[in-house]
Amino acid sequence: MSESMFKKVFLRFCLLFLLIIVVKTTPLKKSKKNILESCHIKGQIVYPNNSKYTQDVTSENTRVTFNPAAIVYASNVEDVQNTVKCAKSLNLTITARSGGHSYEEYSIFGDIVLDVTNLNQIDINNNTKTAVIGSGNRLGPIYYKLSQDGFFIPAGSCPSVGISGHALGGGIGLYARKFGTASDNILSIDIVNANGSLITANANQNEDLFYALRGGGSNSYGVVTSFTFKLHPTPPKVTSFKFQYDLSKIQTVFNAINKLGLTITDDMTFSMVMDPSSDTPLELDGVYQGIKKNAQKDLENFISLSKPTSTNFFEESLFSSVVRWSFESVNETMKPTHHPNKFKAKSFLIKPPGLSSKGIQSIKNFTSKTPKDCPTFAIFDLFGGAINRVAADETAFVHRNILYGIQLYMGLNGDSTTNKKCVDQINNFGTNYQKSFNITNSYQNYIDKDLDNWQTRYYGSNYQKLVSVKKKFDPDNFFHFPQSI
Ligand SMILES: Cc1cc2nc3c(=O)[nH]c(=O)nc-3n(C[C@H](O)[C@H](O)[C@H](O)COP(=O)(O)OP(=O)(O)OC[C@H]3O[C@@H](n4cnc5c(N)ncnc54)[C@H](O)[C@@H]3O)c2cc1C
Repeated sequence: MSESMFKKVFLRFCLLFLLIIVVKTTPLKKSKKNILESCHIKGQIVYPNNSKYTQDVTSENTRVTFNPAAIVYASNVEDVQNTVKCAKSLNLTITARSGGHSYEEYSIFGDIVLDVTNLNQIDINNNTKTAVIGSGNRLGPIYYKLSQDGFFIPAGSCPSVGISGHALGGGIGLYARKFGTASDNILSIDIVNANGSLITANANQNEDLFYALRGGGSNSYGVVTSFTFKLHPTPPKVTSFKFQYDLSKIQTVFNAINKLGLTITDDMTFSMVMDPSSDTPLELDGVYQGIKKNAQKDLENFISLSKPTSTNFFEESLFSSVVRWSFESVNETMKPTHHPNKFKAKSFLIKPPGLSSKGIQSIKNFTSKTPKDCPTFAIFDLFGGAINRVAADETAFVHRNILYGIQLYMGLNGDSTTNKKCVDQINNFGTNYQKSFNITNSYQNYIDKDLDNWQTRYYGSNYQKLVSVKKKFDPDNFFHFPQSI
């Protein structure tokens, strides 16, 4: 892999950092273990004394680790139900795990991790243009399987992200301005509630729960077993594009984004990476829903205002665009593997008219000055289009008046003292930044345990309704983690 390719992979999070972690465990008492063993769970149960445990408890972000007493690999829906009932009778807590990509590792927070990886069916109905997608699937295999039948759903770029955490918290990617968030494309959800019953939430049944699960659903109301998604036919061709910019001209780029961002064609979604230490310090990557000639025409105005130093267009199939922007091989996209590494991230969702020049300079200065052990870059995701056309109170995903999201991402490559200093630094920056530039919203899928006032930042005016749905469906707060509803 070339150095620049390595950097790109890093930029998109999918960096391979092999590490050995020491996990302190809290084993189950023998009596509880015996009961769990007799709960008719067919799937494998991994305990701390099992040689697989350390590997199985290692999730994407190894900055944080918890020590569950058991990991249950549900082999079917009944296993999910039996595990919930059993855990309740034993007074043990459960957290569901799908792709294990929670930024704060909240999917391994409970006494028992209920892993849904084996609930991985993808059943496509060509007539209704819908698919039932098991809650244990990851994005890469979903894109691949659906593409075989000429369909897709809009979702994020990293193939190893799990569909459950992703879609239950929103799900933003390079198809979102045309087709909305992943959660906007859910038609129905099957979920095991706190009593262990399997219930369905959709527009006709348990509508309030359906509302809550689309944006506020991660491990707060139950364990999702499957989603029914609306499918979109893949266009014959899409056009990926890559523009490079001179970092010193960043203000010109943002003048163009602030001016055109919300009005530019919905056919186009982009995300831009600012990484001052890179040989491509300001790169905009995107996908246009159509052929190259149309992409060039529709982006003409944006190009002339933003003044890239180079532009590249690639007409290709939609699945090829998925592979391109995953910065992975086709094989890795189809069969993604885990990439544990240490990081800390901050999310700022910016409303129109966009950041002032001071706000942009401030991000540029921060990313330029972080120490070598904690390289930091910023990703700007353009919102608008279909994302913003849904009313803020239609689903729990409240972020409908956003121009762009910023994710500040810090890799942590030092020893524990250095890493702590770096985390303090990004936390302080985040708090001051929000205050200085009056930023209220943060993205719940970039979950951040150090975020103040997270209820309002993630859910805004929808929070109270989410609490009332919680009281109805999980009055004893059986499903919880530090930032659950
Ligand atoms: C490398 C990387 C790339 C990313 N790229 C994008 C992107 O392009 N766009 C974007 O929007 N986001 C992106 N994210 C953020 C991602 O959407 C969230 O981290 C998401 O929560 C991950 O879901 P998961 O199932 O993989 O994680 P998990 O850790 O398994 O779960 C996350 C949360 O959901 C809960 N949960 C999991 N399964 C279930 C279930 N079956 N029922 C109920 N609750 C459940 C967990 O308990 C936990 O609280 C990225 C994250 C990473 C680490």
